[in-house]
Amino acid sequence: MKKYVISPSDLTFLYHQCKRCFYLKAVHGIKQPSSSMAVHSTLDRLLKKKVVNQPIQSIIPQAKKGQIIDTGKTVFSHDIFNGQNGISLHIKGNYDARVAYDDGTYGLIDFKLSKLTEDKKTKKLEQYTPQLYAYAYALEHPDKGSPLQVSELWLYFLYPESLAEDYHIRISNWSEKLEYDATLLQNFKTGLLQEVYQLLAQDQPPDPAENCEYCNYLKSLQPYFS
Ligand code: SF4
Repeated sequence: MKKYVISPSDLTFLYHQCKRCFYLKAVHGIKQPSSSMAVHSTLDRLLKKKVVNQPIQSIIPQAKKGQIIDTGKTVFSHDIFNGQNGISLHIKGNYDARVAYDDGTYGLIDFKLSKLTEDKKTKKLEQYTPQLYAYAYALEHPDKGSPLQVSELWLYFLYPESLAEDYHIRISNWSEKLEYDATLLQNFKTGLLQEVYQLLAQDQPPDPAENCEYCNYLKSLQPYFS
């Protein structure tokens, strides 16, 4: 049985950027070079340290009552399509923050170092939805341990706005709740996850995306290699 493991963030970024690179990563383990910035990871680390064990209302006042119980933990889902076609497909990734609500359900918060403006809000929420749904799917259908019922998914955006007189950076933040329920999660499985499954079942990778800087760079190098 072939076993493929996909990451929630690849469903939001790589899959839409280029299905060929997505396929190569999932099937052959070939990854694009990392471009993450140190400042991004530092802010991410500081934020996770600050919010853990705090009420969710400390950063998202409109959320229902609950506590942020952990950050940066790994989730791993069961085999989503039960080994059809000789392929097992799992979701694996590290969520940013998990919330335990007073009503016994759970929530997830994903931090984004990005500005949320009204004109781009719909597009950004659509873009990040698959990532949060993938984490939620893995929590509700874990490979090991008890399933958890997820009731809320949140995006928390942060972005530097200005420098104060004393050179302290002022950071603005925005929070948005994603639409989420059992039907939408099922639609995610029969829609995007099924589409991904069919892609990975192919013998050959799909065509590359057009005008990709990486591919153009590689093509321009070819004459210089024998
Ligand atoms: S176009 Fe090429 S390098 Fe770019 S993302 Fe796709 S396969 Fe990767």
